[in-house]
Amino acid sequence: MSSVQEMKALLTPKSIAIIGASSKDNAIGNIVVKNLIESHFEGAIYPINPKAPEIRGIKAYPSILDVPGEVDMAVFCVPAKAVLGAAEECAKKHVKGYVIITSGFSEIGHEGAEVEKKIVEVAHSGGGRVMGPNIVGVLLNGSKANASFAPCLPLDGKTALISQSGALLISLDMNTFVRHLGASSMISLGNMSDVDFADCINFYAEDDKTNCIGLYIEGLKNGRAFIEAGRKAGKPIVALKSGVSAHGAAAAASHTGSLAGSVKVYDAAFKQAHVIRARDLDELLDCSQALALQPVMKGENICVVTNGGGIGVLSSDSAEAYGVPLKTAPADLQVEFKKCMPDFGSAKNPVDITGGAGLKGYEDAIAVALKSDWVNGLAVLYCETANTEPDEIAEGILAAVKNNGTNGKPIVTCFVGGFKCQAAGKKLIEAGIPFYENPDKAMRALSALRQAALFQEEGIADDYVPAKDVDQAAARAVIAAARADGRSVLTEPEAKKVFAAYGLPVGKALVAKTEDEAVKMAAEIGYPLVMKIVSPQIIHKSDAGGVKVNIKDEAGVRAAWKTIMDNAKAFIAKKDIKDAAIHGILLQSMAPLGKEVIVGSVNDPQFGPTVMFGMGGIFVEVLKDVTFRVAPFSQKTAMGMLPEIKSYKILQGTRGEKRLDQERLSEIISRISQLVSELSDEIAETDANPIMLYPEGEGLAVVDARIILKKK
Ligand code: ADP
Ligand code: MG
Repeated sequence: MSSVQEMKALLTPKSIAIIGASSKDNAIGNIVVKNLIESHFEGAIYPINPKAPEIRGIKAYPSILDVPGEVDMAVFCVPAKAVLGAAEECAKKHVKGYVIITSGFSEIGHEGAEVEKKIVEVAHSGGGRVMGPNIVGVLLNGSKANASFAPCLPLDGKTALISQSGALLISLDMNTFVRHLGASSMISLGNMSDVDFADCINFYAEDDKTNCIGLYIEGLKNGRAFIEAGRKAGKPIVALKSGVSAHGAAAAASHTGSLAGSVKVYDAAFKQAHVIRARDLDELLDCSQALALQPVMKGENICVVTNGGGIGVLSSDSAEAYGVPLKTAPADLQVEFKKCMPDFGSAKNPVDITGGAGLKGYEDAIAVALKSDWVNGLAVLYCETANTEPDEIAEGILAAVKNNGTNGKPIVTCFVGGFKCQAAGKKLIEAGIPFYENPDKAMRALSALRQAALFQEEGIADDYVPAKDVDQAAARAVIAAARADGRSVLTEPEAKKVFAAYGLPVGKALVAKTEDEAVKMAAEIGYPLVMKIVSPQIIHKSDAGGVKVNIKDEAGVRAAWKTIMDNAKAFIAKKDIKDAAIHGILLQSMAPLGKEVIVGSVNDPQFGPTVMFGMGGIFVEVLKDVTFRVAPFSQKTAMGMLPEIKSYKILQGTRGEKRLDQERLSEIISRISQLVSELSDEIAETDANPIMLYPEGEGLAVVDARIILKKK
């Protein structure tokens, strides 16, 4: 069975057994039975209890093996030590879904983790899948199954909410009624011993009762499966990731390593997974609401209709902050809007019909906006005033939408005011129009609808095609030689050989063992040139005084030889480095001055090889102005990274300078992504720092290279 079929068996159960069903009122094993009854589960309920003949009036069985019919789902409420034994019986019974509420497994340490692993093996042996352990359960509106200890099924609707945290799930369950946010199901993932986010996304992507998938993520076990599932879903996904500050890459040896905090990597991975990132719970739920109820926004023109200048300006500020800035309405559209408002109103956008306009003003302005080809998305804002009734305005909005049709445009609303506004909001949401209590949220919702459209346009596949003119074997040979030498750090000339095997322009470089040899090699390479120390123990060569640039003649070579050797020896002595090896001095031609950029990679614990790009020098070191993508990826994706750095203007050419060679740069970034993913079994980190980047058409030069291997 495919993952989706297995998940379907698990999440659309026709029969549910409760292992550890209890006669005691407050026991979880009793609450789950009660919840299934109260949620009006339409299938068979089988309480399992060795002694009780019935529980809450339903016939109980001593063992799951005594149940006469098939069992789709077993909800485990027994103590941790009894779970494995019960799972073995479930496997014999070919139960499809194991919903393990019981805690006390991997979350308490190694021993628990071992048992957890065994439970999954047992479940798989019988053709089943495991949800949890350490969860609240699952709440399935489609099957009317509250197979959990949460009080009741959530408000019915079109969002699937999936949470790693159980307590959060219960509170969101209750919160759906306050927000009028309908959920098709709520899933608690807990320890994710088996079923994870990717499995759920795969299932809900195909579930026609679900329009939007909302996730609360603490960590992913398989980042790549997540990216693939998200991208394939073709359905809006919003995710809130917590714990973004905790894990850093403090001990990393390269620049890229130290910059690869998980926030930016998650940001990149979400983009690649076509997942909209929410910053907090409000954003998660507000965006889910909009994405579940409204079509995506197919163009970038937002129209705001408001009766208050203040909230209009606020919406404009927010729209810009969310990357969907408002634009002035075209002149002919302004003429139409002018007809809907008093003389002192504004038709520019925000369309301010003013407090004097009233219901008619709203109806007319909304009609104009909905009919206009220019408008791609509409926000209707309202301040509660003395001469209007919130309920009437809500009715007016609904009537305007009904009479004019939305032409596929999304529409959101925001009423600022008192209890009457809240009641109006409920009415709007029930009619399928998102409602928010401040303009910022309305704009965030529209920006999410826009982002969802852009993801749809991007399509499912990243158009990555590995470059063919690469020599993987040559790269592996260099790595094998360094390993044979007992090293996990490649020297610059070695790293450059690996880079060259993947088509990166590293220039000509030779390693001299003696001063005289250096003089000979210098003549062969030509002046001006650069000389650098080659020692596996000296990773940052300049720090050790190991780099001399712009050497113009033989005298310069001899002087540089002495200085670099003296500096290197002094550095080794000062740092008290044992068994230091100096392989010689590298000579290479001096690359013309360009704009220095850096491309590096790390091996992220969750996503694997991940590539970083940024401008060199202080931009990287002080400002940490960098961006990431999970490797491998296409040149087109690499092109998309460039505008993400704050110093992008430099790449575009500032103050009369020419635009830099972004095409070649993005090609190189994509090639590095290929290199680090094809050699991911060997490479931990890479750094091309700096790369000299030249104006359009003139390419680039990789002047320094560093590769750190995985410890073996
Ligand atoms: P490290 O990063 O180990 O200190 P680099 O090889 O990056 O050493 O050299 C330090 C600086 O010298 C670089 O940032 C660059 O500005 C300059 N440099 C190094 N190699 C070259 C070269 N071949 N052509 C021009 N400049 C170079
Ligand atoms: Mg460097």
